[in-house]
Amino acid sequence: MIPYGRHQITPDDVAAVVDVLENRFLTQGDQVPLFEQDLCEYTGACHAIAANSGTSALHIACLALDIGPGDVVWTTPISFVASANCARYCGADVDFVDIDPETHNISLQALSDRLDAARRQHRLPKAIVVVHYAGLSCDMQSIRSLTEADGIHLIEDASHALGGYYQERPVGCSDWSEATIFSFHPVKSITSAEGGALLTRDPELARKARLFASHGITRDASAMEDNPDGPWYYQQVALGYNYRLSELHAALGRSQLVRATTLIEARATKAGRYCEALKHLPLRLPGGTEFARSAWHLYPVELMEHDRSRIYEVMVSRGIGVNVHYIPIHLQPYYRRLGFSPGDFPVAESFYQKMLTLPLFPELSADEQEQVIHALTESLN
Ligand SMILES: *Cc1c(COP(=O)(O)O)cnc(C)c1O
Repeated sequence: MIPYGRHQITPDDVAAVVDVLENRFLTQGDQVPLFEQDLCEYTGACHAIAANSGTSALHIACLALDIGPGDVVWTTPISFVASANCARYCGADVDFVDIDPETHNISLQALSDRLDAARRQHRLPKAIVVVHYAGLSCDMQSIRSLTEADGIHLIEDASHALGGYYQERPVGCSDWSEATIFSFHPVKSITSAEGGALLTRDPELARKARLFASHGITRDASAMEDNPDGPWYYQQVALGYNYRLSELHAALGRSQLVRATTLIEARATKAGRYCEALKHLPLRLPGGTEFARSAWHLYPVELMEHDRSRIYEVMVSRGIGVNVHYIPIHLQPYYRRLGFSPGDFPVAESFYQKMLTLPLFPELSADEQEQVIHALTESLN
């Protein structure tokens, strides 16, 4: 079976992890701070806080922005559930904004309409988690201009988009948001096995996020509420979690980050091949925008005439591991119990009905890719 995504591990990656095992601390050594520094250099962000998953990073972003009961957080239905769950962890309400049919990112028109309605109802969101679906950045400047007057915080869920660009700046720089989140799950741009990070330009947000990622404990005397009893002293000043990344994971992430650009280029080349080979088929192919360069996490196609379930089955029976990204979050039983129903976000629901993710990853061979193209062309004819 050709999977839809697969990580790449090189001898350098293995050596980096073995070096930690044989010679270094396993936790709280120098690899995590070095990985954080490398992420800042790669993206242009001022601060990076590594976490043990992208989901943990989303949670500490919400905590650091003081999101809690009584607040509302918006996101889009076409994402992984973590984009919404992070707000629920903090006791906030979640609502969704429909997607744009071309980019599958948050729709600017729908966002603008919903903000007008929310202003009238005095129920504006405290934050919006925008998702750079499939690796293509949202139009952050436009989203900022819609939300800025009301002081709405923006969190970029860039789990798909490390290595992408927006207005010639690397995704993660957080020029137009309070914070950006990456995931280093094995199907993403680079992997640390499990792992994630929060990036920000805001030193105070960085300080709070770091506190929440490590039990709410500080060893910095200036952050304590009394004078330290002695050099051993630490204080728990908030209720935090243990969301730390281990040194093994950080060493793997660092080693992978060195070749992130090469990995994204390999994805982009293969995406170009799909575009060329599939353009005459009855499919809507993922488009670009003039302002962003995708990191090509996914290659999502939309069927125009055919039944998705049938094509899915034909492809899987031929050894092609197509997938579906995503089941709209508001249709999950947990969110239905919170009051959402089918029909609430029609563009997202229609996209879900018609979409298939084709295999795309750096080591997808030319031969494997031709098998995918051949199988899809045959199944649509
Ligand atoms: C992968 C992913 C996450 C969560 O990442 P983990 O590292 O698996 O916790 C969050 N949001 C989106 C859009 C993702 O694709």
